[in-house]
Amino acid sequence: MSYRVPKVLPTTVVGSYPKFPIAKEALKKHYKGEISSEEFEKMIKEAIRLAVEDQIKAGVDIISDGEQRREDMEVYFAERMEGFVVGNKPEDWVRIFDNVHYRKPVVVGKIRWKGPMTLTDWKYATEYAQGRPVKAIITGPYTMADWAFNEYYGDKKELIIDLAKELHKELKALYDAGARYLQVDEPALSTHPYKEDIEITKEALSIVFQGMDDAKKIVHICHGRVEKLFPDLLEFPVDQFDLEFVNNNFKLLEAIKEYDYASSGKELGYGVIDIHSKKVESKDFVKNAIYKVLEIMPPEKVYVKPDCGLKILGDRDIAFNKLKVMVEATKEVRKELGYEE
Ligand SMILES: [Zn+2]
Repeated sequence: MSYRVPKVLPTTVVGSYPKFPIAKEALKKHYKGEISSEEFEKMIKEAIRLAVEDQIKAGVDIISDGEQRREDMEVYFAERMEGFVVGNKPEDWVRIFDNVHYRKPVVVGKIRWKGPMTLTDWKYATEYAQGRPVKAIITGPYTMADWAFNEYYGDKKELIIDLAKELHKELKALYDAGARYLQVDEPALSTHPYKEDIEITKEALSIVFQGMDDAKKIVHICHGRVEKLFPDLLEFPVDQFDLEFVNNNFKLLEAIKEYDYASSGKELGYGVIDIHSKKVESKDFVKNAIYKVLEIMPPEKVYVKPDCGLKILGDRDIAFNKLKVMVEATKEVRKELGYEE
């Protein structure tokens, strides 16, 4: 079954979706050793089916697996790669931002990829996607390093480059399976918008994405002062930045304009849905937001999506309704601009 992604203003998601009860239960029981791995797998697959079904029902063009299996974006990968240890005691929990806490991993040895970590879920989602492309999403080397304690590598750069080499293997496995929208999440980068960190990340990303030029190479950044990363971001070896805009009241558009993002030829993942507010946006709000970006970006380079992952909303109905409004508003704009559905 093939699905045609619209040539202008395609809609997409950043990745996570509120956890379905069946995923929560599966993770809890799995953690306590109360279910077989077959049973666990079945429950996770069902949660992914539900997440995919919601996105299709909302009309999203490029979807995700909803990250139903992932405890969070750091620990999930740290627990599955050699070189990390992840504690389990109360003192191992630290705060990243807002009220988001996680178990901070410690790097104690050379980082090594042991085998695919996200491929099974990407395949499950693809199986249910009715031809829609499914984004392959991994946490990037900079963020993996930044959100861990380093007790092994001489300096942070060495750790980041080794992570990049190993995460490349993960992305390559997804690419080889057919994934053509490849997203690397680097939320930590905007919290340290310093020249040196930006340079290291640029080098690391060229390693992660190596040899995948016929795929969309996407980097998602949020949480911090993204405007401080310009103009250096425009030199990154990627096709698209997926950024947040509602969260900064669309102030980031000033940087997009000032640094002439449009001339870089890169695509822009444009956040029009607030993931920190349970209030569902109005269609007019989303339409106005889209018209605002179209003053400085061509419509075929803009992907409409929420600011960040929807998991934090914690409520499936709210997440679904937000996606639905986002798609409806985008379709109206496409029509008003004279593009046929
Ligand atoms: Zn984000």
